[in-house]
Formats: sequence, structure tokens, C-alpha cells
Amino acid sequence: MNKAPDTSPIRELLDQAAQRIDSDSPRLDAEVLLAHVLDKPRSHLLAWPDRIPEAAQQARYRKLIERRAGGEPVAYLTGEREFWSLPLTVTQDTLIPRPETETLVATALEHLPADSHARVADLGTGSGAIALAIAHERRACHVRACDRSAAALAVAAGNARQLQLDNIEFASGDWCAALAGECFDLIVSNPPYIAAADEHLACGDVRFEPQDALVAGDEGLDDIRRIAACARSHLCDNALLMLEHGFDQREPVARILADHGYRDIVCNNDLAGRARVTVCRNGGD
Ligand code: GLN
Repeated sequence: MNKAPDTSPIRELLDQAAQRIDSDSPRLDAEVLLAHVLDKPRSHLLAWPDRIPEAAQQARYRKLIERRAGGEPVAYLTGEREFWSLPLTVTQDTLIPRPETETLVATALEHLPADSHARVADLGTGSGAIALAIAHERRACHVRACDRSAAALAVAAGNARQLQLDNIEFASGDWCAALAGECFDLIVSNPPYIAAADEHLACGDVRFEPQDALVAGDEGLDDIRRIAACARSHLCDNALLMLEHGFDQREPVARILADHGYRDIVCNNDLAGRARVTVCRNGGD
């Protein structure tokens, strides 16, 4: 006998939804959405499998499950994603921060001593993930987070307020346009780097993300070329540029950087062991 939908306990709500969702992690997705609706940590669901959520909560949850079944990313449904252990608000105006981007943060921190006063710029900051993680870890650094999207900057600034960070500022502009005439000790960026014809743009969560934050021309290298060209005049002598890129772009990225006169070009792997972040030094003249 079928029970009325609003008398289902947590256990059943999760089991049914996990079957409805077609993703890599249906059970986890259902747990995150139910925990969000109940405003509890996921551990609550395991501790109280027989609890029957209120009818209004069940209705909200079922709507979210339908949207997830239609492909919408969990992070856009909850409006949040953790990055570098920081809770961040995300919207459809920003990419959803990826675990592999933590490699860029880790690389930046390796080059910034704990008491560093460096001036750091993050180009194309989106939700602010990279800039906020650096500002959070290095309180004496001053970070400028840039984006040409006013909507993304508003999300990033909201995240900075939420995290109570005051060593970060926001500037609007396309790549180096937001750096005015100034020079920085470190410029970081996770630019768009997917090739326009890449099949993975038609699958999963990326279908719902801002395409101009993902796609960069036929080879996915257009924005990396633009940044390589403009960043040199905004880097102090011997300052560093760090770029995230695709796992198969190590060689073309190194070539682009060498062609622009950068030196000490080194590529770091992400936690999955794939080429992900290239670091180089402004050569001086
Ligand atoms: N790593 C992301 C992906 O493969 C791409 C992010 C980006 O283009 N900067 O979906």
C-alpha cells in the first residue's frame, strides 16, 4: 500500500529520490538536497531515518529532486558549494567551484609565506573561490578579485562579506582591464579553457553553467593567450603568473607563455595526477 507522500520518513524519501536521479552520485545528491531543505547537516539524515519531515518540507524536497532529475546541478539548487573548506554562495552567473581548482590555491600558497604582504590579482573570479581562499589563508596579502560580469562580482562580494574578509577588493573588467595601471606580485586565473566543440559541454552539470566561463575558442586556448599577453605589464619584476588549464593543455600553454617571454615555466598536477596548473615568472626586460 502506498503511503500518502507527506508521511514518508527520511529513509524512504532518500531511497525513492536516489532512483529518480540519473547522475554519478544519486544518493549523495538526494542527501544534500534533503539536508538543505531540513536545514540540518547530512549526519542528521543518518541519525534520524524514521523522522517524517513536515509536509511543506517534503513538497520543497520533491520539487528539488525533480529539478535534479532534469539535470540541474545540486550546487545551483542549494545555492551553495564548499571550496577550500569555505562555504560559498553560487548562482547561475558563476561556475561551480571544482575540486581541481584547489590545486591552483595550493600552488599560490606555496609561493606566499604565511606573513606575506603580496598584492595578488585573480582574473575571472566568478564566485570568488580562488581569491577568497587566498585572502582567507594569507590575511596580510591584499587580493583584487576581477570579473567582467557584474552579476558574478556581486556573488563574490557577498561571499567576502559572509566570510568577513577585508583584505579583498573587487574590480570590474575583462582580464587585465580591471588591473588599471598597477602591478602585482602574483596573478592567478582559472580562465575558460574548454574547446568549443568539446563533447563534454553537452553532458551533466556544465550544461547549466555560464558558457562564456567555460569555452575559449576552437582549442580552448583563446583566453589563456589573452591573459599571457596582457599580464606581463601588470606583474612586478620576477612576479608570478599561475593559470589553471585542461589536463591535455600543458604543452600548448607552456609554448604560449614562453612565446610571451615568461620564464621558469613549471606545470603542477591536480590530486587526480593530471596536468592542471602552470606557473611562470615574469622575465623582466
Ligand atoms: N575544469 C572545468 C571543466 O572541465 C573547466 C573550468 C574552466 O573552463 N575553467 O568542466
